[in-house]
Order: sequence, then structure tokens, then C-alpha cells
Amino acid sequence: MHELSIMQGVFDIVLDNAEKHSLTKITKINIVVGEISGVEPEALDFAFSYFARGSIAEGAEFSITRVPLTGRCRRCGEKLQGLVNLECKCEGPPAYEMLTGTELYVNTIAGENEEDGYDEAD
Ligand SMILES: [Zn+2]
Repeated sequence: MHELSIMQGVFDIVLDNAEKHSLTKITKINIVVGEISGVEPEALDFAFSYFARGSIAEGAEFSITRVPLTGRCRRCGEKLQGLVNLECKCEGPPAYEMLTGTELYVNTIAGENEEDGYDEAD
């Protein structure tokens, strides 16, 4: 499953951050997933549970922020949204540029460390 290798990458980032900030427990992870990033949110949920088990992120709140596909016509500047409507009504061949929808990144990692109990990193 594709999402397992993505989640492996997410955990590399999470554990890196945990080390940098001396976190002993991860409490929250948020990742941003674009509509056409090719990732299934349900499969990511599963992959998260798989990697979290027995790690410092076990029991953490895992959330996914989904970003819709949007684009803009280079000719008339009209904003377009969604796979079906990503074609402008103005004349000529398709000339749109993509604005959002391909994102895939770790947005927020929050955790606790022994010294001050709470720490948050981007
Ligand atoms: Zn147009």
C-alpha cells in the first residue's frame, strides 16, 4: 500500500521533530492532503495506526486537512474548481494553471516533553 510508505515519511519527520524538541509523547499530528495528491485519507488513517502502535505517537490525535483542486484560467483569470469544471468557458484550448490540490505535507506536530510539559512545532 502506497500510503504506508507515505506514512513512513511522515513518521520520519515526526520523530525528527520529537528529538529536536525533546518530546516524550506526541499528542497531535495534522497533515494536509490535496484532492489529487493520489492519497486515500482512509488508508492514511490505517497507516497511522499501524506506525503509531508502540511508538511515542500512540494515542495521538491524527487529523487530515483536505484541500480541493482549484485552478485559474491563464486567459481570462477565472477561478475554476473541481476535476469536472477545470475547463474554462472562454474560447480557445485549455490554458489553466493549478493553484491547489496536489499538496501532501505535515502541517502540525504537537507533543509533550519532560521539562515544560508542552511543546508545539510546525
Ligand atoms: Zn478563461
